[in-house]
Parts: sequence; C-alpha cells; structure tokens
Amino acid sequence: MNVSDSEVVSAILNDVGYIRTNAIDDADIILVNTCSIRENAEIRVRGRLHVFAQLKRKNKNLLIGVLGCMAERLKGELAVQEKTVDLIVGPDAYRLLPQLIEQSQRGNKQIQVFLSADETYEDIIPVRFDNKGVSAFVSIMRGCENRCSYCIVPYVRGIERSRNPESILKEITEVQHKGYKEITLIGQNVDSYRFENINFSQLLSVVAKTFPSMRIRFSTNHPKDLSDDVLHTILQFENIGRHIHLPVQSGSNAMLQLMNRGYTREYYLERIKTIQKAIPDVAISTDIMVGFCNETEENHHETLSLMEEVGYDFSFMFKYNERSGTYAARNLKDNVPEKVKIARLNEVISLQNTLSARSKEKDVGKIYEILIEGMSKKSASEYMGRNSQNKVFVFPSPEKLKAGDRVLVKAERSTPATLMGSLIKKL
Ligand code: SAH
Ligand code: SF4
Repeated sequence: MNVSDSEVVSAILNDVGYIRTNAIDDADIILVNTCSIRENAEIRVRGRLHVFAQLKRKNKNLLIGVLGCMAERLKGELAVQEKTVDLIVGPDAYRLLPQLIEQSQRGNKQIQVFLSADETYEDIIPVRFDNKGVSAFVSIMRGCENRCSYCIVPYVRGIERSRNPESILKEITEVQHKGYKEITLIGQNVDSYRFENINFSQLLSVVAKTFPSMRIRFSTNHPKDLSDDVLHTILQFENIGRHIHLPVQSGSNAMLQLMNRGYTREYYLERIKTIQKAIPDVAISTDIMVGFCNETEENHHETLSLMEEVGYDFSFMFKYNERSGTYAARNLKDNVPEKVKIARLNEVISLQNTLSARSKEKDVGKIYEILIEGMSKKSASEYMGRNSQNKVFVFPSPEKLKAGDRVLVKAERSTPATLMGSLIKKL
C-alpha cells in the first residue's frame, strides 16, 4: 500500500517538475513514507531520520518530510520530537504537497494531517517504481472500517472508500501500454469493495475480461467478507492468480472475539474447505499474530493446529504489539510476557517452514506457466519468476529470456522457499 502511495506522490511531484533520484546526496527533498502498524516500523523510520539529519548539516537547503501513517498518528508531536523534519503530511493530503513544499522552502514548518471521506487519488496516474516493468500495484480502495481491536489502520487511514471502476480500468490500460504483465488490485479489505452497484467479484471479473493477457492478483481478503462469487470469478478466468491471501490472525475463538475479527475458527475453516474444493490448485497464505491479550498456551496451540489443518503455503507472522489509541490499548492488558511472545512466534515460524516445504514438495514433477521477473538473486545464469499460485521458481535457460516473458517450467526440486525448475518452452 505504501509503495503504491509513494508512486502517487511521485506523480504529483513530477507534475510540478521534480524528478526522483537514487543518489541521496543529489536530493533537494527527502520524503519518507511511513507505516505505524507496529512500533518496529516506526523505530526504523526514526533511525532513517537521523541519517537524513546528518545530510542536512551538509546541505542547509535540504527539506525532510514524513508522509503516511506515522505523520497522521503523531501529527505535531513528531515535529517536536524530530527537529529536522520540515513537512508532516498524512495519507489523504498528498495533493497539497507542491504548495506545502513551497511554503517550507520559505522556512515554515508544514503539518497537514486530515482524513478525507472521498479521496482516492483516482485521477492520478502513479509513477511506477518497479524498474523491471513486470508487475504493478493498482489501488482500488483506501481506508478501513473493520476496527479489529489491535489495529491502528482505521485511525491513520480513515474510513473505507472505493475507487470508481472506470478510473481503475483506465489505469490498468495505461499500465498495459507500458508493457506490464501483471497487476495486483490492492486494498485493506478488497472483499468490501463497492462502487455504486459494483462489488469486488464484479470488478474482478470486468478486469480479468478486459485484460485477458494480464495476470491479475488481489490483496487483502477478509475471511468474514470473501464471497463465493469471488471464488466463481477466479474459476471463470485463467488469468486470475490461483492464490488467496486470507489473514486468520489466530486459531482460537476466544482470541478472534477479543480481536473483533467477526468470524470464528469454524467459519474460517469452512471458508478454507469451500475454497480448496472450488479451486483445487489454489495456494493459500495468511497473516498470524501471536501473543495477543490474555492468549493462553491452549489458545496458541489452537493457532498451530489451525495452521496444520489449512496447510498454508506461506504466512506473514507477527507478535502482538500494543498501539496506543486502539480499542485493545484502551481496554485490554498486553499481558503476555515478551519472552513468551517470542517463543510462540518461533513455534509458528518453524511450523510454517515445514508447511512451506510440504507445499513446494507436492508441486515437484508438475509443469507451470511462469512469468519471469528477472535473474535469480543467487545465480546470474538462472532466471526467477512466479507461477499463478505466486510460488517462486528458479531455472536455467539455454536461450536468452527477459523479464516479462512467459515460459513453461517443470518443477524438478524444492526448498522451503523456492522451486528449482527446468525450462520446457517459451510461450
Ligand atoms: N487489512 C489487512 C491487514 C493489514 S495489517 C487485514 O486485515 O488482513 C497487516 C497485518 O499486520 C495484520 O493482518 C496483522 O497480522 C498485523 N498487525 C496489525 N496490527 C498489529 C499489531 N498491533 N501488532 C502486531 N501485528 C499487527
Ligand atoms: Fe486493521 Fe482489521 Fe482493517 Fe486489517 S481489517 S486494516 S487488521 S482493522
């Protein structure tokens, strides 16, 4: 989401004549787009701000700005804590950046934080950062209204709003003209997309039909909102990725209720069964959070058993981190000791490694269409790409290939993270 937002910011600044540079010493302005989801993310930003402060000692005219969720969360407090910051701009105020920059060039610190009910930046064509030119994010909605009790997102990103489908199709047309081969439709909860009478499954279907040569992905789904219609749409179109990211957070009903997730373990598992039955070759990934308030060893084991039962192909795993202002911070005790959180996280990670290895092993011997993203990081003579299930393949090729090419590859061997393949043919 932040990469996508930074691409919007880049477009707004390009319009008034700024260009992006990779050489930090050349920069007149440094904008850091921030995340507040966990304290760690904010600590990293503060570390970067200290590095930028040193650059400012050498270049007095350098402007430093903090954008995004941390700006929205801390507002003026951040200006007091970080003296070298000139601009503090929240996620709905980016259109004002050119004038804010101008004013801060005159020496006035600028703070613009407000949340909008309708800003979607839908008329702005983002300047893409993916220099391989293969895969692009397309934002379809902003904000979130789910109020999971641990989560800061609704407070820093505002209410949910969906983008006009016409502007989404226009943006994808643009992306396709630039040569991109894959798009990911993104939102905090794509399943609750609604613009007038168009819901997410209808949007997905129109996008897949209009762009048959593009691979279409989407993220993130919410278990309480993922509909059977979305599953039918996936089945109907071969160009929709066979991959669903369905964050579960916990396998314990007590935790799910305290988290205000709006579903039970049984409901979640029923959705998974339905998905796996409807789309047998689907890959399923998730987000898991350990150590939430009052989590017992038994609750934790329910998460481990749910992971086994689903057999996730991939997971993002976190330990709970209290965020001030959330329902949990105001009403619940962050009472699982840090040592216990770490131990539980390690157990979850280790189980996921086993599941990931199993998921790759069962693909060995099969043939998949791979969209090439570039050369393998480990070997300059091998290519790297992903299949429809979003699994990473690495393979050598006697003929020269390039990013964006599609090939058929046979999975020969596997590691927990990668499938090693052999090239069958170029498509
Ligand atoms: N909208 C998406 C996720 C957004 S945040 C969804 O609901 O699935 C991404 C992940 O960060 C969440 O799924 C959750 O696992 C994790 N997360 C959110 N708040 C957190 C917190 N306070 N501490 C630790 N992890 C958190
Ligand atoms: Fe946060 Fe829940 Fe919204 Fe996801 S759905 S962004 S976890 S409040």
